[in-house]
Amino acid sequence: MLKGKVALVSGASRGIGRAIALKLAENGADIAIIYGGNASAAEETRQMAEKLGVKAKCYLCDVSDFNKAAELVKQVESDLGLIFALINNAGITRDKLTARMGEDDFDRVISVNLKGAFNLIRHTYGGFIRAREGRIVNISSVAGIMGNVGQANYSASKAGLIGITKSVAKELAGRGITCNAVAPGLIKTDMTDSMPEAGREALMQAIPMKRAGLPEEVADLVAFLCSEKASYITGTVIPVDGGLSM
Ligand code: NAP
Repeated sequence: MLKGKVALVSGASRGIGRAIALKLAENGADIAIIYGGNASAAEETRQMAEKLGVKAKCYLCDVSDFNKAAELVKQVESDLGLIFALINNAGITRDKLTARMGEDDFDRVISVNLKGAFNLIRHTYGGFIRAREGRIVNISSVAGIMGNVGQANYSASKAGLIGITKSVAKELAGRGITCNAVAPGLIKTDMTDSMPEAGREALMQAIPMKRAGLPEEVADLVAFLCSEKASYITGTVIPVDGGLSM
């Protein structure tokens, strides 16, 4: 389905990003695995993707750095070819009640989660326009829709991703390029494993389906949005949250 196409997945060394990379590889895409520092996890994703019969390469890049993001896109295009699918998944948390949140906690989360996505969209934009095709999927969060105690920085970054999704979707719609956001709820990854047990349990009780989601359940939707079947879907925000945000 995506044979011969290239997908760039940020934060693909672990968790949801790894599941997305592997699902797109399963569908035939060559994969650029972007990671922030964990080289061994990125290499594991690469080997898993290659076993699916596609090309896969790892790239260390702090997506919050505008110039490094530009170099990254150039390198991926020279190694693998023009990018068809950009998945902005890299993300971090620095949870604290607003009263205790430092300036750096706010700035860093916005820089990685929101500016990181802008940087990669900005530097792939020209390629999308030239190709007159492409898919952008931004991994937002239910926190960006509902807010969350202790996550003013994170919720703001994820709400911001919804804004950028709709703006870019409007800009690129006429060229046949789609841009959508996916809003996961509580998904079982390193990010949620590091949450305090009590907070995770309380959240679980608020989920109508009474369970955490799996990274693969998010990846399935991303793969659908990258497929031909989703060619008329743009500017949407789709939750994958067991009903949490309804
Ligand atoms: P995770 O397990 O903590 O993995 C985070 C990924 O982002 C890793 O691959 C990490 O690379 C990468 N990363 C972090 N900072 C980076 C940077 N500055 N530049 C490039 N890459 C960077 O997270 P996850 O739970 O899979 O979450 C993935 C996305 O889904 C995030 O955007 C998160 O906000 C969103 N989300 C998650 C949940 C959830 O319940 N898990 C819910 C809603 C939304 P390294 O391995 O190299 O550190």
